[in-house]
Amino acid sequence: MKTYDAVVVGGGPAGMTAALYLLRSGISTLMVEQLSPGGQVLLTEEIENYPGFPKGMKGYELADAFAAQLEAYAPDKMMDEVREMRLDPAGKAEHELLVGEEWIRARSVILCTGARYRKLGVPGEQRLLGRGVSYCALCDGNFYRDRVVAVVGGGNSALEESLYLAKLVKKLYLIHRRDDFRGLKCYQDKCFTHKAIEVVRSTVVHEIQGESEVTGVAIENLATGEKSVLDVEGVFVFVGFEPNVGFVPAVLNMDSNGIITDTEMRTNVPGVFAAGDVRSKLCRQVATAVGDGATAATSAFAYLEQLDA
Ligand code: NAP
Repeated sequence: MKTYDAVVVGGGPAGMTAALYLLRSGISTLMVEQLSPGGQVLLTEEIENYPGFPKGMKGYELADAFAAQLEAYAPDKMMDEVREMRLDPAGKAEHELLVGEEWIRARSVILCTGARYRKLGVPGEQRLLGRGVSYCALCDGNFYRDRVVAVVGGGNSALEESLYLAKLVKKLYLIHRRDDFRGLKCYQDKCFTHKAIEVVRSTVVHEIQGESEVTGVAIENLATGEKSVLDVEGVFVFVGFEPNVGFVPAVLNMDSNGIITDTEMRTNVPGVFAAGDVRSKLCRQVATAVGDGATAATSAFAYLEQLDA
């Protein structure tokens, strides 16, 4: 069985930063990534709030820049899925990870597997997935040129993706279950004044309708109790994230938001760290993921030093 000082699981901004810091500290590091490096960033059209780039940049450009910087240190990589983890709760033995078909030993592990879009959980959503229901404006927006769509959600994702879609579609209903939006004021202002966007507040979606393709959404105004159907051909759902923790054993402390860590990214299991969107936290940004990754790597380095002392 191969043994590494550190195994970084996940190649988004948190994972790439953690690996960069570890490799620069001379730690033998394996990076495990299922898809191409970048994570959620690859699904983001424009990133305007990453410090140092006042003009903004495309998500894939930032992901490419991270990956190129890391490549200079020639990390060991496995492009596969972590299917199982055997963690020693006391942190005395090495931890073991099943990557694809191969078991790998790790003296420390940094989990950076990110999060995926949460489902609305209404009838029609699963059945019409890919036939009008989408969780990615960048991937599917082009199919809805000059058509009418709905976006569900009130956070930054819903607002940002609405602004992207509004450039393409004829009309967009932005449906949110409350009056107040939790997304940034600057995105709110742009959405509320956009001529293609109609904001539908205090309204829940009960069903996504359509036989073979989406034809409408059944909604209810919570303030008036009025029920109606909006005729739309696409429904984009942005109601938050769920952490990617399917392979994480129960010995690791988690809540519904993700893996619980302290401020140094340490989990309850010695030698196991978590960074980025997979962590239970409120602020999920590229900038915070990068910070988490750097902190986790520094903590892992200190942990390894203490093991070797
Ligand atoms: P979020 O901030 O958690 O917002 C989720 C939204 O969906 C909330 O408005 C919530 O309503 C609504 N919602 C949740 N469950 C629902 C349900 N079952 N039915 C209807 N509505 C539901 O998620 P997000 O917008 O995906 O953002 C996630 C994180 O990424 C945040 O930290 C966000 O700031 C960050 N992000 C940042 C940027 C940026 O800064 N450029 C861009 C995208 C995302 P309530 O408000 O009523 O709870």
